[in-house]
Amino acid sequence: MEHGFKSGFVAIVGRPNAGKSTLVNTLVGHKIAIVSPRPQTTRNRIQGIVNRDDAQIVLIDTPGIHKPENVLSRQMMNEAEQALEGIDILSLIVDATAEFGAGDRFSIEWIRRFAGPVFLLLNKVDRTAKPRLLPLIDRYRKLFDFADIFPISALTGEGLLDLVQAWLGRLPENPPYFPTDQFTDQPERFLAAELIREKAIEVTREEVPHAIAVAVSSFEEKTDLIKIQATIYVEREGQKGILIGRGGETVKRIGTLARKEIQSILSTRVFLELFVKVQPHWRQNPVLVRQLDWHRQLEQLAEE
Ligand code: GDP
Ligand code: MG
Repeated sequence: MEHGFKSGFVAIVGRPNAGKSTLVNTLVGHKIAIVSPRPQTTRNRIQGIVNRDDAQIVLIDTPGIHKPENVLSRQMMNEAEQALEGIDILSLIVDATAEFGAGDRFSIEWIRRFAGPVFLLLNKVDRTAKPRLLPLIDRYRKLFDFADIFPISALTGEGLLDLVQAWLGRLPENPPYFPTDQFTDQPERFLAAELIREKAIEVTREEVPHAIAVAVSSFEEKTDLIKIQATIYVEREGQKGILIGRGGETVKRIGTLARKEIQSILSTRVFLELFVKVQPHWRQNPVLVRQLDWHRQLEQLAEE
């Protein structure tokens, strides 16, 4: 290994919809985390790995910081807390187009649990008038002693080179933690489940996206294709009807969109079979919520 190689962990936290998953995808250069204009899409922490000749940065995408209202969102906040264990840098990302509010104050209190350097990333500058930024920076500076502050656009890449340089300045010299051709810790079967959930969120409205969970029941790698069976869970009969659609057209559309994207990400042909089931109040059920955590599912698969 080259002398001076740097490697370490950077957790990305912030309110729902700030652009955490978009930032991780852009920096990794692959889509590893699903993205949606609807809040609270990310439910588990996921590592995205940036591999360079001189460094390996392990980014941790997290569920948005919010006040938990059910078992699922309590687990999501636990996931965010666990993402802080053993990291080198914490990065708080905020939507610079949005007004500063109670949720931002709550995030600032929440990050105080971390003792190391905290960066502030003002995201979505592609849609922010520049004069808005200075007062916003001032406001945050008064509330917390940030190690560094960067205006960025996770979508267009603006400001990201400088950000990565600044992170590298604070990462220790270390050999890489992961093989340098690996770009996520998330196994393919869970990425597939997430992509199906992303498409199901895309075609539904209001409370339905939040009630959706996806579990892959079978993932078979054949010589020239992957055969996937998955179930989309919702909480009520009415939601099941919406997901299936007239003559099954909605679930068919979800299947087509998901299959195309899984094929392009895994670079192989995919055969995808989808089922829709009702699981009443699963978000309030600790056993069901725990079953959806892919870190735990992985442990179970290993035991079988
Ligand atoms: P998360 O909940 O923090 O993970 O946010 P996402 O990454 O899912 O993004 C939420 C929404 O904001 C999506 O519609 C993204 O396309 C959008 N978004 C994220 N970053 C940017 C950005 O830099 N500029 C603009 N204009 N939109 C962004
Ligand atoms: Mg997200």
